[in-house]
Amino acid sequence: MKYSGRFGDYGGFYVPEVLIPVLEELEGAFYRFYEDGQFAAELGQLSRDYAGRPSPLYHAKRFSEHVGFNVYLKREDLLHGGAHKVNNTLGQGLLAKYMGKTKLIAETGAGQHGLATAMIGALFGMETKIFMGVTDIERQSVNVHKMGLCGAEVIAVEGGTGTLKDAINDALRYWTAHVADTFYLFGSACGPHPYPTIVKHFQCCIGKETREQCLEKIGKLPDMVVACVGGGSNALGIFNEFLEDENVKLIGVEAGGRGLSGGRHAATLVAGRVGILHGAKAYLLQDDEGQVYETESVSAGLDYPAVGPEHCLLKDSGRAEYVAAEDDEVLDAFELLTRTEGILPALESAHALAYLMSQKDKLPGETVAVVNLSGRGDKDVSIVEKRRPKK
Ligand SMILES: *Cc1c(COP(=O)(O)O)cnc(C)c1O
Repeated sequence: MKYSGRFGDYGGFYVPEVLIPVLEELEGAFYRFYEDGQFAAELGQLSRDYAGRPSPLYHAKRFSEHVGFNVYLKREDLLHGGAHKVNNTLGQGLLAKYMGKTKLIAETGAGQHGLATAMIGALFGMETKIFMGVTDIERQSVNVHKMGLCGAEVIAVEGGTGTLKDAINDALRYWTAHVADTFYLFGSACGPHPYPTIVKHFQCCIGKETREQCLEKIGKLPDMVVACVGGGSNALGIFNEFLEDENVKLIGVEAGGRGLSGGRHAATLVAGRVGILHGAKAYLLQDDEGQVYETESVSAGLDYPAVGPEHCLLKDSGRAEYVAAEDDEVLDAFELLTRTEGILPALESAHALAYLMSQKDKLPGETVAVVNLSGRGDKDVSIVEKRRPKK
C-alpha cells in the first residue's frame, strides 16, 4: 500500500491477506482518478444535475429565536435520496465505473446506504447486491422494497445478530471471492484504508460550500459547526474545510439514547475504548473481553459500535469536541424544527439540533452556528409517532 491510512495511531488496514491487493488496487485508482479532470467534471455534473448540489445554507430564524443565537442549516436533506449519502455513492460509483468494475456491493443497516447504492447501481446500469442483516430486513421493509425497485438484490445475512456489523463482515467476505468485477461501495468514513480517505473526499463538498456560503451570506466564518456522528462521514465532510480555523468550534453529536427497545447507546467517541473492528483501529463500544456491543438508537443511521479513525484523532487532539444526545432531547429537537420551520429533520440530524437546544441562552446572541442537516425526517415519522403519540 502506498499510504498507511493512519490518523495518529488510528485507522490502518487490519484485514485478511487476500484483501490487501484489492485495497491496494482501490487506493491506486482513487489517487489516479480523483484529481483527473474528466472524472472531476463528470462527478461535478452528476452532483449538480442528479444529486442537486450545491445544497442551500438556510438561516433558520424562528429556530434561532428559540435558542437565542443564529442557527444556519446546511440543507443536505434536500439532495436526491433525502440525505448526504448520495455524495458518497455517486463518487464511489463513478470510481467503480472508471476502474472498469461492473458490479457493486454494499452493506446496510437501516437501509439508507443500501438504497443510496441501489440508486447509483440503477444510474450506472451496474448489477448491485446489498448485504443486510435479517433483523434489519424485518425492521426496514420499506427500504428493502425500494432497493428492489431500483433493481438491487438484497442479500439476507443470518450470522451474528443479523445487523449492520454482520452485514459488513459478510460483504467483505463476499468481496474477497469476487474482486475481479466487483466494487465494494463502503458507507461511511470508517473501515480499512483507503475508505476513510475516499469517503471523506466525496463528502468534503459539504464543508467547501458551507464556507463559501458563510462568507457570502454572513461575511465571516461561523463560530461553531455541529454535525451528528454515526460512522462519521457527514461530520467530516463539513468539519474538514474548517480544521485549520482554530476559532471555529467543531462539535460532533453521537447517539446517547437507547432506542425503542432500551438497548445500548451508540456514543462511541464519548464512551468507547480503542480496539479493532472492520479493518480499522478506532474507538469501539466493547466489553472487557473485547466483544463488540450491539447498539440501539432511535436513529438507525447512528447505530454503529465503531467510528471513523479521523474522528478518534480529532477527539484526542481536542480539535473537535464530541457529546451525546439522549432520545428525548432528539425528539424535542425534531418537534421544534418541524414546528418553527416546517422542516422535518432526520432523527440523526436532530441529534445535532438537540445540542444547540442544550446551549439555549448560554451563548452570546451574535453567535453563528451551522448545523449539517444531514437528512430529511420523512423516514422517521412512524418512530416519532410511536415515541410521542398525539393525544
Ligand atoms: C447514514 C446517516 C447518518 C450517519 O452517517 P455518517 O457517516 O456518520 O454521516 C447521518 N444522518 C443521516 C441522515 C444518515 O442517513
